[in-house]
Amino acid sequence: MLALQGDVREHLLALEAAGASTTTVRRPAELAGVDALVVPGGESTTIGKLAVTFGLLEPLRERVAAGMPTYGSCAGMVLLARSVVDGRPDQPLVGGLDIQVRRNAFGRQVDSFEADLDWAGLAEPLHAVFIRAPWVEAAGAGVEVLASVAVDGANHPVAVREGAVLATSFHPELTGDHRVHELFVDLVRRS
Ligand code: GLN
Repeated sequence: MLALQGDVREHLLALEAAGASTTTVRRPAELAGVDALVVPGGESTTIGKLAVTFGLLEPLRERVAAGMPTYGSCAGMVLLARSVVDGRPDQPLVGGLDIQVRRNAFGRQVDSFEADLDWAGLAEPLHAVFIRAPWVEAAGAGVEVLASVAVDGANHPVAVREGAVLATSFHPELTGDHRVHELFVDLVRRS
C-alpha cells in the first residue's frame, strides 16, 4: 500500500481478506521490496506532492512502467492516468495507464453517490461507492473497460485495466465486498 495519504487502512484489510500479505510503502527502499502496489483514494494532488517530497515519484514511475502490478482507486486512478482534465496544472502523476481522467467528474449534485455496476466477468453486480470520483474521459486502444456509469445517456468508464495495471473510480475497500481486491490479487499471482 502506498501510504502517503488516503484510506490506506481499509485497503490493507480488504487485501488481507483477499489473501495478500501487505506492507506499507513511504520510501523508495520500501517500494523496492514489494511485488505489487495499491494506490488508495484520498487527494491525488496531496499524494502526488508527498511522493515528490519522499523521493518516490520517479521510482514509482519506473516500477509501474516496468510492469509492476498496480491498482489505483479514485485518487489512485487519477495518479495512474497519463493526463488529467480539471486537475491542477502542476499536479504530479505516476502514469502507467493510457487514459485521460476527468477529476471530480460527476459534479456537485452527485458529488458522492452509490450505484450497482455490471463488471465484465463478474457474475453479480458490484455495489460501488463514489466519493468526488473521476471518470475516464478517453482511453487508448490497449485499455479494457470493465465497468461504466451512464450520465445523461453517455457511458463513462469507471473501471479499467491495461496489462497489470487496474484502476477504479470508486472505493471497493469500503463495502465489505472483496471481489475487486480478489481480482487484483489474482492479477498479481498471474504476473
Ligand atoms: N477528488 C479526489 C482527487 O481528485 C479523489 C477523491 C477520492 O479519492 N475519493 O484526488
